[in-house]
This record gives sequence, C-alpha cells and structure tokens, in this order.
Amino acid sequence: MCGIVGYIGFRSAREVLLKSLKRLEYRGYDSAGVAIVNDGLKVEKKKGFIENLKVNFDGTLGIGHTRWATHGVPSDRNAHPFVDCHGNIAVVHNGIIENFMELREELISKGHVFTSETDSEVVAHLIEEYYDGSLKDAFFKAVSRLKGSFAIAAIHRGERKIMAVKNESPLVIGIGDHENFIASDIPAFLEYTNRVIVLRDGEVCEVSDDYVRVYDMEGREIRKEVQRIEWTVEDAEKGGYEHFMLKEIFEQPRAVDDTLRSLLARTSDHWGDFQRIAIVACGTSYHAGLTAKYVIEELLHIPVEVYYASEYRYRANVDDSYLAIFITQSGETADTIGAARRAKAHGHRTLAITNVVGSSITNYVDHVLYTNAGPEIGVAATKTFTSQLMALYYFAITSAERMGRISHGRYEELMRSLHRVSYWIEATLNLEDRIAEEARRVAESGNMFYIARWLNYPIALEGALKMKEISYIHAEGYPAGELKHGPLALIDDGMPVVALVPEDRLYEKMLSNIKEVSARNAYVIALSSREDVEKYVDTLLRMPKVDPLFTPFTNVVALQLLAYHTARVLGREIDKPKNLAKSVTVE
Ligand code: GLU
Repeated sequence: MCGIVGYIGFRSAREVLLKSLKRLEYRGYDSAGVAIVNDGLKVEKKKGFIENLKVNFDGTLGIGHTRWATHGVPSDRNAHPFVDCHGNIAVVHNGIIENFMELREELISKGHVFTSETDSEVVAHLIEEYYDGSLKDAFFKAVSRLKGSFAIAAIHRGERKIMAVKNESPLVIGIGDHENFIASDIPAFLEYTNRVIVLRDGEVCEVSDDYVRVYDMEGREIRKEVQRIEWTVEDAEKGGYEHFMLKEIFEQPRAVDDTLRSLLARTSDHWGDFQRIAIVACGTSYHAGLTAKYVIEELLHIPVEVYYASEYRYRANVDDSYLAIFITQSGETADTIGAARRAKAHGHRTLAITNVVGSSITNYVDHVLYTNAGPEIGVAATKTFTSQLMALYYFAITSAERMGRISHGRYEELMRSLHRVSYWIEATLNLEDRIAEEARRVAESGNMFYIARWLNYPIALEGALKMKEISYIHAEGYPAGELKHGPLALIDDGMPVVALVPEDRLYEKMLSNIKEVSARNAYVIALSSREDVEKYVDTLLRMPKVDPLFTPFTNVVALQLLAYHTARVLGREIDKPKNLAKSVTVE
C-alpha cells in the first residue's frame, strides 16, 4: 500500500508528480519521494509529509511514491524511489516482495550494494543485473523473479519510457495527448485526463510520450480498453464507494490475505513457549483479543485472560509470568502503550500486534506481528479487525503446532482454513443487498441486542460496537445464555435482536436462547448457514458454510455491513462519527 505515480510528457514532472502524490494522500503514508530524469537521474526522498520534499530539479519524465512501511522502519533511507548501484535506474514499489531475502543475498553475492532495509530495493538491483541496453527487456526479466504483491514502476536515465507492472496491488494508466500517467489510483491524474486503462494482475506496461503498450508476463501484447471516468476526484478517492468504511469493508479479502502472506514470510517466531497469556487492548482490538482467547484456549489448552488496556494498567501484579499480547491498530494507543510498558517492567514477555510499522508500541515490546491491512481511513475499524484476527489465529495455530498441542494433520487443516478466509469473506460480502434491506428495519429502532456464544460472543460485542459508533443506536452485545439473568427485562415488542447461530457445538443452545427472546416478541435477525433456523426467527441471513472455528470472520463482516447500512439509512457521518477519533493517543 500506498501510492505510486509516474509521468512522461511535456509538463513539469516535478509539479505533476508532487500534485499527484498529494491526491493519493488520503491513502495514508509515512514517507515520500520522487525521481526525475534530468541530465541524469535525480532523487529526493524523505520520511514524513510530501511537503518536506525539497525538489530543486525538474524534467518531463519521473516517478514518485508515498510509502506505508512494511519492511524497515519509516526513514529517509527506506523511502522510495530506490536506485541501482550506478544511479541509472530508479524504482518505486507498492506491496510486498515475499522472496526479497533470497534475491537480496543473491544480488549481494554478485557485488550489489544495498542502502535500505526494504524488500523493494531488490527490484532496482535486479533490473540493473539484467540491463543490457533495454529497460523493457531487463524489466521483464526482473519481474519474472518476483513473488508477492506488487505495483512497480521503473525508469532509466538513458531511455524515454516508464515500465510498470501490476500484481495484486493497484495500478492504472492515464492517457493524455503527447503525455501519459501511471498511478495507484485514478484521482492522482484526474485533473489532467479522464481516459484510463485499468491494469489487471500479471500485466506489464510500457509507457512513452506517445504510446502505451500493455503486455502479459510473457511479453505478448494485450489489447486494452480505454475507459472514460465521469467521477469527481472525491468519488474516485473512495474507489466509487460512497464511504471509506464501505470501501474498507470490501477490501477485507485482500487485507486478510496480505496479512497472512506477510506472516508466512516471517523467518522465525521466537517468543518461546508459555503457560499463560494475557491479551490487552482497547475498543475493537479488545474484541479481536477476546475472540482470540477462545481460539487459543481451544487449540492450546492454556488459560488466556483479556483486559481493557485502561484497566490492566492499574491492576495489581498478581500473576506469575506470562506472555502479554498488546493489540493496537495504530500502535499509538496511549492506554495500550502504557500497559505494555508496565508488563515489561514486571518482567513479562511482550508481543505487539499492530498495523503500523515502526509505531510507538514497537519500541516497548519484545516481539511484533504486523497486520498488513494497509491504512484505514474510516474511524470505525473494519479491515484492521479481521486482519488482527488473522494475526491472532496464525499465532494460535502455529504456537499450538510448535508446542505439540495439535497433530500435524490438524495443523494443516487449520492452515488450509486460514487460506480460505478471504473466500469466505468474499461470499459474505455477496449478502450486502439482503443486509441493506434488513438495515431499513433496524434503523427504525432505538435499542437492540446482539447475542451469541463461545467465540462468537466477542463478535456480538463488536457488532454492537459498530452499530453504536456509526448509527448512534443503542446496541448491546451479550452472551446468549446471560440474557435471562437480567437484560431480558428490556426486550420490547419488535426490538431487533441479532443472533449469531453458527453450526458449532452450541447450535442447539443458541436456538433455545432465540426462543427466549422471540417469546418476548423481539424481532430476531439470525445469521446462520443452516436454513432450518428460519423456522425460529423473523428473518435469516444465510451465511456461507465455513469451518466452525472461523465463523467470527464471516459473522463480523455481515455485522459491519448491517451497521454501515443502518447508519446510511439514518444519514449519519459514517467515516467520521461524532465524538470519536481514529487513534486515541490520550489516556
Ligand atoms: N514493502 C515496501 C516497503 O516497505 C513498500 C511499502 C508500500 O507499499 O508503500 O517499503
């Protein structure tokens, strides 16, 4: 993730690149840079804002980048573009090169000198290695060696063209007259042209002043359609979605896959064995932690306690040592950082799960697992939640195998399921229209309940939190077995109760709890893959059938959509709910 741009034509490349990068700012970034061909090749790159760049050179051909670090902390050195050993070739990259370690070693053994800790730099040296007078040929050869997700653009000081490739990271081409553009997203160049070619995975393009050619990986030319975009810049930023939140909900298959991919690329998970775990977090991250408690207990059979960071910080230190896991999307949550410092001071081993490379929390813990959800703009967390779940499931499954708590067969089966999560989420996203219908009914109520059991109980809490945050409807999540101990008194005629009814060992118990609320005239909306649940409820959202341990992933996505569409019916400020901030850096 974040942004790449490229320009070739007659205008000031400096101006076009900087403006285009600004247009991609909404995607979030930690560093920026440009490379321009100008009697040689000049590069300016810095950690921080685009405004920090001092570009005192210009030309009519160049590339630019906003970085969201995945490998190597945000710093001037790790910012893109990267150049080869001789400063002839410049490269920008979005995504992750999974096999960069082996490529890097190979290139170092051939004498290449690296200047950064990123995965991306290998691409500049790989092109240099293959360069024999043609950027195009060298680019094809280099790209054929890469594994992972990438959008890459490359230029050479002696050739008037941009070579670019797309594989699982976005890339579009803007077609002008005697000028052309490339970018991660259309708003980057919409001011100059609305004629666009959208690249598909595995496509390579060669962009010059007067032509654009698109090839497959084998170098065969492909005919591409030029589309005319009628969107405004603002619509384009949201990728045609009405809100960032909806865009991010739909990005979840990609976000969980990217997270899994980067976790699998880790060389070692060296936090050792442990007999107890404490998970500490706030808000939505707390719900990810609470879900993980059930998963870890199921697979590892060790006790897991889950705390709100603001509470954990001030409790007495009464336990023997344990592994303490801190979850924070931004890595800047003040309460979670405070809790991590305290755990460390008491001698506990600490592990953080965060979405932001080099964020503050990483300075206070022994180990870090990164989610790779990309920047999240909507205040209500969606794709970062499912990515946190992905990291926590990965942690649970790999620890269970390493500590001999599950058989190898079971391990393989669980890993297969982890790889399927993105398909299951995709299948859930197909329910959007049906969920939007239900939202119209929900929007009429002032109060509602979410009920579930076992590892979906935290998902009931998360569903209710999403509803509260963005629709301002009062919603409470409860363990389904707990309603009769008090809250049942609140059930009124027609009050919506969302019940999560996965096909797991508590299925029958959930049905009994549903009967308790429908006997009090609640309006029951059930989420289940079983058709016969329909008999017991007012309406059934038919969920895809998935491995029972993985139902939190699909259920939460359906509940995000329910909250989103309810808030939309009510005309709320969905991306910026009142009184809330994206990252809470005060205690
Ligand atoms: N993996 C690359 C890095 O950490 C690219 C990150 C991005 O997409 O911005 O530099």
